[in-house]
Amino acid sequence: MSTVQAANGNGGPNGLLHHEELLVRRGERSGVYVAIGVHSTALGQALGGARLWRYHSLGDAIADALRLSEAMTYKAAAAGLDLGGGKAVMMAPEGELSGEARRALMLDLGDAVDSLEGRYVTAEDVGISTEDMGLVAERTSHVVGVPEEQGGSGDPSPITARGVEAAIRAACERRFGTAELEGRRICVIGLGHVGARLAERLAADGAELSVCDIDESKRALAERLGADWVDPSNAIGTECELLAPCALGGAIDERTVEELRCDVVCGAANNVLSGDAIADRLHERGILYAPDFIVNAAGLINVYGELHRLDRDELEELVDGIGDALTRVFALGEERSLTPLAAARGLAEERLAGATHALAAA
Ligand code: NAD
Repeated sequence: MSTVQAANGNGGPNGLLHHEELLVRRGERSGVYVAIGVHSTALGQALGGARLWRYHSLGDAIADALRLSEAMTYKAAAAGLDLGGGKAVMMAPEGELSGEARRALMLDLGDAVDSLEGRYVTAEDVGISTEDMGLVAERTSHVVGVPEEQGGSGDPSPITARGVEAAIRAACERRFGTAELEGRRICVIGLGHVGARLAERLAADGAELSVCDIDESKRALAERLGADWVDPSNAIGTECELLAPCALGGAIDERTVEELRCDVVCGAANNVLSGDAIADRLHERGILYAPDFIVNAAGLINVYGELHRLDRDELEELVDGIGDALTRVFALGEERSLTPLAAARGLAEERLAGATHALAAA
């Protein structure tokens, strides 16, 4: 086994931007590299999913762990959670990883997580299931997102959809002066785990729905909900009041931002903008953008609840608070002439700076 470990205390020159710790380890059972980035523990244990992905090089995997762990710090801070940011990535080998080989990798991941003694808590992410997390739990207690029968919180999608609805209401209040969704024209792109549940909620609220998915079998849901089906290849330009992207990231880029015909963008998809500059263009076009990492924070809140053993009511209160968090972001943006994205980052940085100073003074 080879292990490289680096630590630089609680942040870099400004106490915020630099990672506290990077662990790179080749699993002794699987022979697969695992990289864990601990960006910040200023607000609490660093929590973030473990990703299994095919990387070109170990360098790419490490860069991803660093980038994703930093994003988790912002997400937790902006959502008002007492959590830091961390992420694990594993370099997926060629071919399908199943059976004993998969088990070996998950046990290796568990050992790597455990070696960080609770500074990082892992969970599921792309390429990983709750069953995988159950295997990780054989080697460490610093894991959430394990199957319900093992005491975990299970599928986060229903609660994520609830949080997205709270965000949609806050965005509508801001843009249209009412959080009421009856008759509101909303287009949901992607009817997967979150999008389908969101569409069901919005239909029950009386919204006029347009929906799409590249998976034609999702037409059945559209019919059941009485929603219009739009062609996924140009769904982004659907004329509507609110566009809710719930598929993959990068849906709004330099080209598609010009095609939008909506007043608000507020959906579950992570990294929905191809870059931060797109938020400026949305602002110029008069389109209200609700930052994705606030809108979809309920996925994180769900595992936070598992970590802190919150009951259903406490969890739902936090999730419904996503609307208030977004309202604060919009208000700060207006006060400081910032885009909502810049305002959300500003709020997160203020929380982090406060926590970092408190730690330094302790
Ligand atoms: P999913 O894979 O279940 O659903 C994605 C859906 O989008 C699929 O049905 C897929 O067919 C469809 N799709 C893909 N490309 C499309 C396109 N170009 N046009 C239309 N449809 C397309 O994923 P999910 O769990 O529902 O997550 C959706 C998004 O929300 C992701 O970006 C994810 O990172 C983010 N998110 C999810 C959660 C959660 O609790 N699952 C939490 C936070 C963030």
